[in-house]
Amino acid sequence: MDPIHVIGGGLAGCEAAWQIARAGLRSTVYEMRPLRSTQAHQTDRLAELVCSNSLKSEQENSAPWLLKAELRRLGSLLLDAAQRARVPGGHALTVDRAVFAEEVSRAIESNPLIELRRQEVESIPHGAVTIIASGPLTSDRLAAEIARITGSERLFFYDSISPIVDADTIDMSIVFRASRYGKSLDASADYLNCPFDKKQYERFVDALLEAQNVPAHIPDDRTPFFEACLPIEEIARRGRETLRFGPMKPVGLTDPRTGRRPYAVVQLRQEDARAGSYNLVGFQNHLRFGEQTRVFRLIPGLENAEFFRYGQMHRNTYINAPALLAPTLQLRARPGLFFAGQISGVEGYVESIATGLMAGRLAAALAVGAEVRPFPRPTALGSLCAYVSGADSTNYQPANITFDLLPALDERTLERFRHDKRARHAEVCRRALEALDDSVGQVVSQTGAGALAWHRR
Ligand SMILES: Cc1cc2nc3c(=O)[nH]c(=O)nc-3n(C[C@H](O)[C@H](O)[C@H](O)COP(=O)(O)OP(=O)(O)OC[C@H]3O[C@@H](n4cnc5c(N)ncnc54)[C@H](O)[C@@H]3O)c2cc1C
Repeated sequence: MDPIHVIGGGLAGCEAAWQIARAGLRSTVYEMRPLRSTQAHQTDRLAELVCSNSLKSEQENSAPWLLKAELRRLGSLLLDAAQRARVPGGHALTVDRAVFAEEVSRAIESNPLIELRRQEVESIPHGAVTIIASGPLTSDRLAAEIARITGSERLFFYDSISPIVDADTIDMSIVFRASRYGKSLDASADYLNCPFDKKQYERFVDALLEAQNVPAHIPDDRTPFFEACLPIEEIARRGRETLRFGPMKPVGLTDPRTGRRPYAVVQLRQEDARAGSYNLVGFQNHLRFGEQTRVFRLIPGLENAEFFRYGQMHRNTYINAPALLAPTLQLRARPGLFFAGQISGVEGYVESIATGLMAGRLAAALAVGAEVRPFPRPTALGSLCAYVSGADSTNYQPANITFDLLPALDERTLERFRHDKRARHAEVCRRALEALDDSVGQVVSQTGAGALAWHRR
């Protein structure tokens, strides 16, 4: 049997190849780095996290937790690697990005069923089962090929990354350690918090509004921002108070020096295992580098900060999934072609891993002639696919996993938990995991035969 082609050795591509191997089939993973890099990747490692080092909340019965719980039940390589690369991060699953990429690279490179080819793919192979997982920074030539195959004119919008600061240059006499509401996975105070009073906040907002942006990559570009990941200067332009209710919100934090809640806060999250660097949470921006140094040194505690990385903006490529994809992530017009990861119209690291896992399993099923069935609708996995394949296609925006995407509870259950949102969410999660276990069988999913055993039933 021919190997399954996986284009892109990022989060989705590596997870897909791993799942194909678990089903006992061969795959070829094509990764263009280091021969050709992207605007955001910095290494030649597989599964490099390009921005934040957080795989979101681990809080039980939250939607991001549910998605991770489902992936863990299905033997996700990347969540396993994340567990081994974990660093403190409040109630979030945060990782040392170098350790994470190394773990995944080692697993892929040493798997005898996976061949890794360092090569830029410019055209989609004919006939073979193929997964396109080339990500938000898909090379121009491949993007043009995808546009041609899908009959789309435009495939992209803009996204951004936050700055990283050298830990040794943070003034620890001003910042304080705390997690919001004291919530943390291991009861430690995981974030460094830079507290603002009103005057400092006003001065910071003025400087931000005056700062100069980097010129657009494409003149007269009207590519829209993604609302869930706006640059901070854009948030500030929407109102002087907006930052205080967004990335700079002080809720759940008390400055031990004043005994009061600060007027606003910038949170710094640990980047690497030795705590040598911190990222400015939610501070993605599109300012010139010199302007970032000037403006961000107005943050209390960062007066002498040195930056390891500046915030940046990048093109983000995705297809208009609802117009093109089936709930099995297959291109409706060409079922041998699957899309996974950000390019399939989801948003986020874990969502990319999730679509990679599903595409890998479903492609393996197709390759052996088994039925290619969507994942169960009550699950977070099935709900992601239902969204990408069934949302309104007129102005499609990629989505993170949220409870909005999961099926609503029936009237009786809603009535039962009317005043208890937590209980409602817990019930949605319980139903999702039950549906997953019914379909896959936990025992089967732990074995290498999981993907195919499920699809043959
Ligand atoms: C700037 C930026 C910041 C982001 N920040 C976050 C964040 O903080 N948190 C979050 O949850 N999500 C973030 N995302 C969104 C998304 O979760 C990540 O981009 C994630 O890595 C997507 O996974 P993926 O597998 O789809 O793509 P990737 O992980 O990017 O993998 C795609 C791979 O394909 C390769 N490739 C591209 N074209 C070709 C080709 N023609 N031939 C061969 N190989 C090719 C690339 O080199 C890359 O290794 C960000 C996205 C961008 C663009």
